[in-house]
Amino acid sequence: MDLHNTDDAVTRRIRAFTDRVARLKENDLYFYNQPVAEILPGMKVRVNGRVMGMYASYSYLGLINHPRINEAAKKAVDKYGTGTNGVRTLAGTLTIHNELEEMIANFKHAEAAVTYSSGYATNLSVVSTLMGRGDYVFSDKLNHASIVDGCLMSGAEFRRFRHNDMAHLEGLLKNAPPDVAKLVIADSVFSMDGDIIDLPKMVELCKKYNAWLMIDEAHSLGVLGKMGTGIEEHFDMYGAIDIKMGTLSKTIPSVGGYVASNKEIVTYLRHASRAYIFSAALPPAQAAAANEAFKVILDEPWRVERLNQNTRQFIGGLKSMGFDTMLTETAIVPVLCGEDDVAFAMTREAQHNDVFVLPVVSPAVPEGLARLRATVTAAHEPDEIERAMDVIGEAGRKLGLIK
Ligand SMILES: *Cc1c(COP(=O)(O)O)cnc(C)c1O
Repeated sequence: MDLHNTDDAVTRRIRAFTDRVARLKENDLYFYNQPVAEILPGMKVRVNGRVMGMYASYSYLGLINHPRINEAAKKAVDKYGTGTNGVRTLAGTLTIHNELEEMIANFKHAEAAVTYSSGYATNLSVVSTLMGRGDYVFSDKLNHASIVDGCLMSGAEFRRFRHNDMAHLEGLLKNAPPDVAKLVIADSVFSMDGDIIDLPKMVELCKKYNAWLMIDEAHSLGVLGKMGTGIEEHFDMYGAIDIKMGTLSKTIPSVGGYVASNKEIVTYLRHASRAYIFSAALPPAQAAAANEAFKVILDEPWRVERLNQNTRQFIGGLKSMGFDTMLTETAIVPVLCGEDDVAFAMTREAQHNDVFVLPVVSPAVPEGLARLRATVTAAHEPDEIERAMDVIGEAGRKLGLIK
């Protein structure tokens, strides 16, 4: 297929990627974009006709297919139909949107909340709405791409501090002019490493240098805290974060993103953030599903406890076999492989033995730090986790990662 007969930079970039994908496929090392045909109980899936244990899902509390949540979505379709036909500001706001935002505000111990149609759009829009030219943003080097993109789009001075390095952050804050607006932003739980941001120190620095604090809770909602309400509960620091961002697509089995904050900030975002003003409202079924999911988390706190047990079993087991799981303390469990090739080969071994894990390679992580990125959920059975660890252990021995 030759659309253009040129050899410009775009053509070369496209070719570099298509060549890489083709090479991986030739060697049976390509595992991305595989369609799941069926979602089965106990975190199992049917892929390519085989039933596999799913270790790449973000459904941390196992809420996908929860009867109450499915029922709420179906009822919303019957009541409102399938779309909103417009943006929130005009005809798109339904009572279910307001109910959902009130629910999120309560769950997150905040005055108010606003939702967007994805987590990605939330970060992009919120960071670039709050910050602008002449302001300073301070972002952890391992922050999610949506935060990075929001910072770049804002036009603010962009300073990146070494991962979870509060001394480095303080140095950067100290060097910024004292009278400019400052925003410090980080993931609560890092999406490739599973470690937790040093919130207490970060809050202290934000107070000292008069900076706003925004935290992305994509991987801590439903995961951190006894009730699963997130990182403020985990550190017993309710009210410490100015702007609490999260997604409705991970623990919450829906789609969308939110910001929970004080009333003024939420009102401002409703009238100034472009992803809210210029993009259609969440579909009714997704809003209702998200709303019900928050209720289920509160009604079934055993899920959070179960997730913690499974996480301990999984990390402890992999470590005792000799794997390097980096600094994870959460349901995101990296299994360090080193070179990209090793991560791909580990994936092939695991998937051929019906354990669905995926590799993360450069440039998503630094070269030499390629890994399997496994996730564990409340829906996994302990003996199934044992089986997955046996498979990963066997693969690790075969590839020389462990003895
Ligand atoms: C997944 C994720 C997002 C984006 O959320 P979506 O709802 O999938 O767009 C944002 N931030 C972090 C840290 C994430 O892991």
